[in-house]
Amino acid sequence: MEMSKRITGINGGASDGWDVYYRAKEMIAGGIDVAMLTIGEHDIGTDACILDAMRDAARAGHVGYAFGNGNLNLRETVAHRLSERTGVPTTPDNVLVVPGGQAGLFAAHHGACDEGDSALYIDPYYATYPGTVRSVGAMPVAVPARAERLFQPDPKDLAEAVRAAKKPRSLLINTPNNPTGAIYTRETLDGIADIVREHDLWLISDEVYDTQIWQGQHISPRALPDMADRTLVIGSMSKSHAMTGSRIGWIVGSEEAIGYLADLATATTYGVASFIQEAAVFALGLGPDFEERVAAPFRRRRQNVLAQIAEQNAVRALPADGAMYVMLDIRATGLSGEEFALRLLETCNVAVMPGESFGSAAAGHVRVALTVEDKRLGEAIDALITLATDLVAEANPTPAPLPL
Ligand code: PLP
Repeated sequence: MEMSKRITGINGGASDGWDVYYRAKEMIAGGIDVAMLTIGEHDIGTDACILDAMRDAARAGHVGYAFGNGNLNLRETVAHRLSERTGVPTTPDNVLVVPGGQAGLFAAHHGACDEGDSALYIDPYYATYPGTVRSVGAMPVAVPARAERLFQPDPKDLAEAVRAAKKPRSLLINTPNNPTGAIYTRETLDGIADIVREHDLWLISDEVYDTQIWQGQHISPRALPDMADRTLVIGSMSKSHAMTGSRIGWIVGSEEAIGYLADLATATTYGVASFIQEAAVFALGLGPDFEERVAAPFRRRRQNVLAQIAEQNAVRALPADGAMYVMLDIRATGLSGEEFALRLLETCNVAVMPGESFGSAAAGHVRVALTVEDKRLGEAIDALITLATDLVAEANPTPAPLPL
């Protein structure tokens, strides 16, 4: 039996650019010790006190159906958090609890786009974006942000892309950004908001890294003038509280939008396990000190990696203002990101993600996830630098002296 075109077309038919990752997994399965600097998952697990809260909540009876918009105490906590952090008055009716940021991205696109509408997003992008757009029957349109602009999208490029797109309906942005580490400036966000308002688009704002700010300030575009009603903010506890496996996040938007998205939740997930929601309330109650403790290893490792990179010229680092990654420009080696990452894996047992896995705008770069302990990470970066230095020397041989 044939399945629907919508579902068979989710991966777009192309290679997903994750060959290096799969190859590294095979090597590990074969007993090889690979330094995995690939995916965005903490090297610590969920803290024991959160797991205890989860167990206590389950034991206390939070084990029945948890349908509806989410437990009121969690929606109140999230509403308070967003009001405090953004200055935008937010009530529990603006919040829908969802099973993780990814589920939020799917629901938001499902809510924003009709079949055949164009859904725009910025390239480089988090790898699931095009598939998420296709899975709701919309058309993915990637708008490149250039390395030369430190991956801040240029509103002029965006305006042009919106004009060229067929039935543009939504724009997805992600700040702090995976994979580039860029934090969008106020100027970038104002430019984006102007275009979104002018073309009557939904803005889907993926803010799952909003507790990982190393430099600068995170601004939620929902707080910009006349943006609250047309913005759907995606939040998650995966990164902020090392709760990737708990699958807990939220969408924040207008009451009307949240009402419709709750209908979608009833038709799909039927809510998020209540004992997870109760653990989330507990975890959010631990406050900013706890969140900083979860973020601290990445803050420290980013600093260490940037210091190592600053000592040589073969590889260049992008500023990495936020999120748990550093993007490295390896174009001087003459290899593509994919070729370089494969070479690094095969010769040094170090796995990084080729920039090409995140779209064409990141070609010639590799993304390093700061997710292994400091010493191992330092050694892996040394190996990467040595390989890049050798390749640069090979690509630029010293000219032989002229005969006398
Ligand atoms: N958005 C971005 C930019 C991500 O990097 C990730 C996960 O890595 C997600 C969303 C999904 O996170 P969650 O675990 O909340 O589904």
